[in-house]
Amino acid sequence: MESQETRSLIEEVMEDLSQRQGFLGIEDEEKRHYVCSSAKEILKTTDKIIKSYIRVSTEKNGLMRIPAYRVQHNNISGFYKGGIRFSEFVNEEEVENLAILMTLKNALHRLPFGGAKGGVHVDPRKFSEKELNLISKKYVQRFARDIGPNHDIPAPDLGTNERIVDWMVGEYKTIHPGQVYLGSFTGKSVENGGAKGRRESTGKGTFLSYSWLLQEWAQNNSEDEIVNRGAQWETVNRLLEQEKQGTPIRVAVQGFGNVGSVAASEAYQYEKLNHQVVAVSDRFTTLYHPNGLDIGKLTAYTKKGRDLPANSEQLTEAGIEADIMQVKDVLTIDTDVLILAAVENQLVVENMREVKAKILVEGANAPISREADEYFEDNGKVVIPDILANAGGVIVSYLEWKQSRVTELYSEEDILSDMSAQMIQTLKAVYDAYFSSVENTMRFTCFSLSLERLAGLLYRQGKLY
Ligand code: NAD
Repeated sequence: MESQETRSLIEEVMEDLSQRQGFLGIEDEEKRHYVCSSAKEILKTTDKIIKSYIRVSTEKNGLMRIPAYRVQHNNISGFYKGGIRFSEFVNEEEVENLAILMTLKNALHRLPFGGAKGGVHVDPRKFSEKELNLISKKYVQRFARDIGPNHDIPAPDLGTNERIVDWMVGEYKTIHPGQVYLGSFTGKSVENGGAKGRRESTGKGTFLSYSWLLQEWAQNNSEDEIVNRGAQWETVNRLLEQEKQGTPIRVAVQGFGNVGSVAASEAYQYEKLNHQVVAVSDRFTTLYHPNGLDIGKLTAYTKKGRDLPANSEQLTEAGIEADIMQVKDVLTIDTDVLILAAVENQLVVENMREVKAKILVEGANAPISREADEYFEDNGKVVIPDILANAGGVIVSYLEWKQSRVTELYSEEDILSDMSAQMIQTLKAVYDAYFSSVENTMRFTCFSLSLERLAGLLYRQGKLY
């Protein structure tokens, strides 16, 4: 989804909320419309966009000036929070869209954070470790006044990891001697004050958003309660029936990084329902096997910092049997479930009709365009949107930030069970609302629950007069 699509959905949902009798406790229709239109104006726009050029002296290209961003969308529900992305596709519009989605995600999951995002226009694979270290430190120097444990708390995202975050924390500490620094970033290594289980949390949460729908929600609700979602209800139940009859549920995963590899492992190891991960992909290849891939072996192979095996020698080395396909084939492969865990705008009007999966899960941010989302909805597919599905990371980030304030270490078990409990609370609220709603997408339901909270906070804090 592009930022314009996110904004127009905010407009539509606020319009819908404004027509709700008694919304925000306001009975007078004219006043309610005024207040909602003020909330719309605030949430459609961004508090602050900071762009800077990082200067780095590189071995191959000499001196380079690299565009870097920090976008702070809104902090009505708490300190700004959002990852920093290193990618050659980073641009202002993308970072702003991701910042808006962070505000909505944090509000949907009732986390005490607002929304922000950062980005550096680099392909990290083309820089040496020393150069990446310099870029990371320079990023903190440039944005030092705008980040901090009580203001704006970054984390890793696409192309960044705990190593980069550790460097950034080190630089933050150097710039602010004597000040509290551990809570300035989340996603640190455990040795450096990070939360155990943070790396796995987004992938685990993504799989949970799907498995809980089948295993818990669908089993505990009956058809009589599903007023308006007959097609989606049927989709879920057909898969459950197929599995009961002995045919495993087939899963394909786009992206085999932090989020995708963990989500694939979760599906591979899931004991309550039988799954086969028939396809995985990364930016160079798609691997396919109709009887399922050995995700344990693929994870072991890629753990050494490598991409997925992309030729027959590499497949032999990994001990994997698979067909090598084109990168984009993963999107249209014959599968039941497709987990999108790579980048934005993967399923769009040009390819939406070729998608065979019946359940689509957005581990990545914004991988499905608005038009494709509506098309899937009309065709009885279930789309579990990003702000619902991929919140495991920011929930654990919240626990990490809390841990740094009480200087106490939580166990991995406690962290992952707190994350699941918090996710399940939101999953239940969304699935209950979506399956009994009239005609909108699940994304509309998520935006609605989120904007209801944000508008409520803006109103109570006196911002809408
Ligand atoms: P990552 O860098 O660890 O992995 C990204 C994976 O996607 C890699 O396997 C890469 O090869 C693949 N990829 C990149 N471009 C691709 C393309 N054009 N086509 C196919 N595959 C491609 O990143 P990550 O942390 O796993 O993040 C993946 C997505 O999840 C991003 O959209 C990110 O914003 C989102 N996300 C991440 C977290 C987190 O905690 N890491 C939290 C919420 C959302």
